[in-house]
Amino acid sequence: MSVKRFIFLGPPGAGKGTQAYKLAELCSVPHISTGEILRNEVALGTPLGTQAKSYQEKGELVPDELILDMVGQRLSESDTQSGWILDGFPRNLSQAKFLDELLEKLEQKCDRVIDLEVPDEIIVERLLKRGRPDDTEEIIRHRLQVYRQQTAPLIDYYIQRQLLVSVQGNQSMAEVTEDLQKAVDLNC
Ligand code: ADP
Repeated sequence: MSVKRFIFLGPPGAGKGTQAYKLAELCSVPHISTGEILRNEVALGTPLGTQAKSYQEKGELVPDELILDMVGQRLSESDTQSGWILDGFPRNLSQAKFLDELLEKLEQKCDRVIDLEVPDEIIVERLLKRGRPDDTEEIIRHRLQVYRQQTAPLIDYYIQRQLLVSVQGNQSMAEVTEDLQKAVDLNC
């Protein structure tokens, strides 16, 4: 089986977490969600968690200096030899540039960047149902704004690198999974 390395882009509530987890299972590679790692750190009350908490609660991005080392370490662990799926990273241009350099150092190449798109009204509806602490309407709208301003420019960044594929997230979970498998030519 060949190595699979994918990045998931898409607004909060697009279903990135669920679909990234599924694809990771299908490919037998680790699913690396920076949001999940941070929430674990918060739950454990680590220094990183304590610092990250106030940003997460407001729907702001956690500062790069707290994120970059964490990702660097995670991608250097041995289970990433078979590949990985990154969910929630990179989230701005400086993180994307950091990742390019990191992958060069690790002699790894990202195979595909998947942009999972869902209209804003649907996102708000979905996230209000999910009910995580940062899922109040005001914080959701702020996270969306942060996404459009800081993360969405990465779509062009990866189009230029000929890595981007778009998948319509506004469908049933099974349909999204099917489209995803087609988008990444999955035969693993
Ligand atoms: P969602 O995609 O629903 O917003 P995530 O679990 O991906 O949820 O992220 C939740 C929060 O964690 C973000 O709003 C942000 O505060 C923080 N976070 C996650 N990943 C990053 C990252 N790469 N850079 C900065 N902050 C991040």
